[in-house]
Amino acid sequence: MPDNYDTLLYQKPAPGVARIVMNRPDARNAQNLDMTYDLDAAFSRAVAEDDVKAIILAGADPHFSAGHDLRDKTQKELGKDFPVVSTWGQFAAPGAEGRYAREQEIYLQNTRRWRNLSKPTIAEVQGKCIAGGLMLAWACDLIVASEDAQFCDPVVTMGVCGVEWFVHPWELGPRKAKELLWTAESWSAEEARACGMVNHVTPRADLSRFTLALAEKIASRPSFAVKTVKEAVNRTLDIMGQNNAIEQAFGLHHLCHAHNMMQFGMLVDPSGLHPSVNKKA
Ligand code: ZN
Repeated sequence: MPDNYDTLLYQKPAPGVARIVMNRPDARNAQNLDMTYDLDAAFSRAVAEDDVKAIILAGADPHFSAGHDLRDKTQKELGKDFPVVSTWGQFAAPGAEGRYAREQEIYLQNTRRWRNLSKPTIAEVQGKCIAGGLMLAWACDLIVASEDAQFCDPVVTMGVCGVEWFVHPWELGPRKAKELLWTAESWSAEEARACGMVNHVTPRADLSRFTLALAEKIASRPSFAVKTVKEAVNRTLDIMGQNNAIEQAFGLHHLCHAHNMMQFGMLVDPSGLHPSVNKKA
């Protein structure tokens, strides 16, 4: 496993704690393919290192993440230049086949792996957390946000029914999930906390210190008990149907992509590119 990453920092800020920092601040930490697979490698490393008991996911200032990098111009190829983590292939196949396989691989199954890491994870969120940024925060077990954090899934304005990892109803409750998606507005950290999506809101200056203290507290507990709590809670959500709900929404997400291809010749409705979406999109 690599010790250095082009798009991330891997830190050990305290005994028992690994801190993974997305480090493309000029792109507002938008996730390109390199970052996605660096994240997977860094998470796998944190799981493999026996001294790590808790994992923090942070973003280099000023924003946590502006989502998926829709202008990723990498020449690298999925399935050749990156390890395949999903059960899919034929990523370059024409039509819906290749697109479906790519999004299974890049978004759905990577996010599910990170959500199911055996060790506890905490998202440390400041600034903007948009669309694919939400997916990253939601994949973590706990979310600590600074007062200036803003959460938004504007994908509906681009003619698609939300991001690929569709847990909005579970994170926000059904009514607020619909409102977030339909309005595409940015919600404050306090609004997100009121919905139960965010565990704690801190002043910006205290965010890292607070998150690290929380991680150290969890890391000090018997690790097997900590991990089995996570397993029990995640399995409870799955028994309640979360996994199947994500799968059915992913199918509708791809119906929207197919519709947009037929209507506009591109995967999203070009009329709705939202101002808060990664400007490089
Ligand atoms: Zn998509």
